[in-house]
Amino acid sequence: MKKSIGKAYIIGAGPGDPGLITVKGLKLLKVADVIVYDHLVNQNLLDYAKNDAKKVDAGKQVGKKILEQKEINKLLVKEAKKGKVVIRLKGGDPFIFGRGGEEVEALAQNGIPFEVVPGVTSAVAVPAYAGIPLTQRGLASSVALVTGHEDPTKEIPTVNFKKIAQSVDTLVCLMGVGEIDDIIKQIRDSGKSPETPVAVVERGTYSSQRVIQGKLKDILPKARNARLKPPAVIIVGEVVGLRQTNLWFESLPLFGKTVVVTRPKEQARPFTDQLEQAGAQVIPFPTIKVATPGSFKSIDKKINHIKEYDHLVFTSVNGVKAFISRMQRLRKDIRCLNGIKIAAIGEMTAHVLREHFLCPEIVPETFTSKHLANEFKKGDIKGKNLLLIRSELANDILPGQLRKMGARVDEVSAYTVREANVDSKKVKQLFRNHEIDLITFTSPSTFTGFVSLMKGEPMAKLLKGVKVAAIGPVTRKEITKQGIRVSITALKHTVPGLVDAIIAYYQSGR
Ligand code: SAH
Repeated sequence: MKKSIGKAYIIGAGPGDPGLITVKGLKLLKVADVIVYDHLVNQNLLDYAKNDAKKVDAGKQVGKKILEQKEINKLLVKEAKKGKVVIRLKGGDPFIFGRGGEEVEALAQNGIPFEVVPGVTSAVAVPAYAGIPLTQRGLASSVALVTGHEDPTKEIPTVNFKKIAQSVDTLVCLMGVGEIDDIIKQIRDSGKSPETPVAVVERGTYSSQRVIQGKLKDILPKARNARLKPPAVIIVGEVVGLRQTNLWFESLPLFGKTVVVTRPKEQARPFTDQLEQAGAQVIPFPTIKVATPGSFKSIDKKINHIKEYDHLVFTSVNGVKAFISRMQRLRKDIRCLNGIKIAAIGEMTAHVLREHFLCPEIVPETFTSKHLANEFKKGDIKGKNLLLIRSELANDILPGQLRKMGARVDEVSAYTVREANVDSKKVKQLFRNHEIDLITFTSPSTFTGFVSLMKGEPMAKLLKGVKVAAIGPVTRKEITKQGIRVSITALKHTVPGLVDAIIAYYQSGR
């Protein structure tokens, strides 16, 4: 049978902040079979892709071309012909200096069905994140978007900066860093006042955004001193003067901070989102992965004899999920838990239980095993049978405390955590280059996973100058055991609690 043809989507990813992809673009990204992305795309967006999606880096950097445009076109056609959903993910908007038009042409010529999903172009988003409105009543009523780097095969440049500068109020120039001297000179020659404000915004919408501001008469030495590198947008016009009163992005509490998140991929999203919303750049580095235990024998046996217990104690979301999944496998109904009391550590653990129609009676206000034990003191657990559903790696503190209180405690490993299978080279290099401000640990195992992934690296040296944040005292203890200072410990041992503690730390001027 002939395989039906797939479909290609040319999607704009926005200029950097991953939140700037459109809802439509993100929906498609989640179902794509093949994703061909370029170097301007924030690679954190690729974490939304299916686990088995094929990801192709088509990064084109001036000088060292990775994939030629023709090869990219061919690849899109080839994959779509195999019946795949193919996404061409491009920085900003695909049709603004993005060669999206050429790709669309190739698809059309080969009879591949396609759609274009516009993106937020850097020409608009980067000025916005630098606090520069491109138009403003009374100040600017026209805008021109121009390229500063034309096709080198063109003999006569078609962008006439002089003429454009004479006739528009705001000029936005992309790909102009390499040619900035010539561009500014031409604009000056147009007769525009040397006092006209100019801004050059490097890595706009990223937490590492840099803005160099000046006037037509002095921007060149300023830009030279700053050693600007692409990608950057040059904005010329009176509206640049409005920036000082409009600074919002650069005022976010974590602006300029690069934060490593070590949570497993499946659980990292809310944490990453909250950090990004506070202005941080997040480096995802999942140091552990959640896995099933070696055998289900023990947990299945406990579930089959669940009526013998008076209390079930869940200490994590993973424990709840693993328990529910075994219940489903064994075709058990939640009614078999009738009459059994449930205790949960952590708001999220309680939340996931409730999602499965299980409302825990005991949820300690502070989320540590010690507080759970205190909570039990209030009710009498003497002589009661408790089942602790936990990770294979959990320690003896909680069962020990509960036994001291006279309870009979059984434990079962519902899941285990393993070292994640990730490439640590890139992250190691970021640490060595002192590009990381903060590393976060949300469980003791995320830290032990980190140590083992960094094997061979002396921890104290690697983390020199890097702040360390821990979700709670148990995690902190694991880290300090290795002689590493923890600067931030969450007061409330939840992800939002940790984000609050990080923000408070930096707002206190450190
Ligand atoms: N299609 C893209 C533009 C591609 S051309 C878009 O719509 O944004 C590449 C140029 O875009 C870069 O040289 C730079 O001028 C600009 N650019 C892209 N991302 C940028 C960013 N995060 N900050 C500053 N400029 C950016």
